[in-house]
Amino acid sequence: MAKKVVLLPGDGIGPEVMEGAVAVLDRCSSLFDLDFEFEEYKAGGAAIDEYGEPLPEFVIESCRNADAVMLGAVGDPKHDDNPPHLRPERALLGLRKALGLFANLRPIIAFDELLESSTLKREVVRGVDILIVRELTGGIYFGEPRGFETTDKGRSAFNTEVHFDYEVERIAKVAFESARLRSRKVTSVDKSNVLESSQIWRTVVEEVREDYPDIEVEHVLIDNCAMQLITRPREFDVLLASNIFGDILSDEAAMLTGSIGMLASASLGSTGESGRVGMYEPVHGSAPDIVGRDRANPLATIGSAALLFRYSLLRDDIAQAIESAINRVISEGFRTGDIALPGEKVIGCREMSRRVVDRIEAFS
Ligand code: NAD
Repeated sequence: MAKKVVLLPGDGIGPEVMEGAVAVLDRCSSLFDLDFEFEEYKAGGAAIDEYGEPLPEFVIESCRNADAVMLGAVGDPKHDDNPPHLRPERALLGLRKALGLFANLRPIIAFDELLESSTLKREVVRGVDILIVRELTGGIYFGEPRGFETTDKGRSAFNTEVHFDYEVERIAKVAFESARLRSRKVTSVDKSNVLESSQIWRTVVEEVREDYPDIEVEHVLIDNCAMQLITRPREFDVLLASNIFGDILSDEAAMLTGSIGMLASASLGSTGESGRVGMYEPVHGSAPDIVGRDRANPLATIGSAALLFRYSLLRDDIAQAIESAINRVISEGFRTGDIALPGEKVIGCREMSRRVVDRIEAFS
């Protein structure tokens, strides 16, 4: 049966990088004898222009009925002054909520050939291979009450950091299960010396670990973790964090690899019979500064297509075929501007995508 994939190229460089990912899906379709049915819609700023809102209900409905969703990026400076419900970024939160995407997975891999692109020393970054597992639908970004008020002490604003045990339990399970496929170590991040919400986080992670006696667990406070991530990044395997802590740490970790243009992500919901509901997107935004100039790095989006095979279609073999193709193109010396060193030859987004497509091979 054909697998339905909804394509949401979005804004800025979103459509440019999405073109590469679709070419990769097409290549895999013919190489591995799979049938894809694509449906494409606007999202974010492009959807505001076309439909009058960033994420119309019919787009959500189509995503609900899909095997997977691929998103480019959303965000357009021309909509920066819109009221909150008409901001392009609303599309992201809306999709996460509508599809119940509670787990965000971000692999952080330092390629040997790109070590010089990182601001950190080669010997610190070499060999880094971390999977960040971030809770995506709870915590302070969604907690109630929230708002502004004027009191007799002056104007104030407030948010609520709240964790429910079931939310921590399900994200912890994703982290432990992921660790089983890797080096069997989970580092759980919290601020339990100060916050009650972190105390329940740590308690539930300890409860879940009972079911995973083969996995090593360490608990690290967020401030210490931020420091260790740039002093001993190689020692992390799976990094489990709440919504806000994961948000901050994943951007910090991104810089270990040298460019945000290399970072793929998967946002996953509950497990169904044929895999997990999932949305796949690069970590980067719409990069308005380079849009329309064939300068974007498509590898984060192509890497996200690999994750689509791994998590939604349960085809790790195809995911590996795509990741090997990316590795080969990098080791053959091809670079987009964001990962090129001074003096290195730079190729465009289209050529980079084409080279990866050409390098995808079926495993014998
Ligand atoms: P950004 O990620 O778009 O860009 C940051 C810098 O990285 C820019 O210099 C950009 O040129 C560069 N860059 C990003 N992706 C690249 C790629 N693939 N290849 C080469 N260079 C790349 O972040 P920003 O500038 O803070 O945000 C721009 C817009 O994107 C804003 O509207 C923001 O809200 C939105 N945004 C969207 C998402 C998303 O859709 N998931 C994520 C972050 C930001």
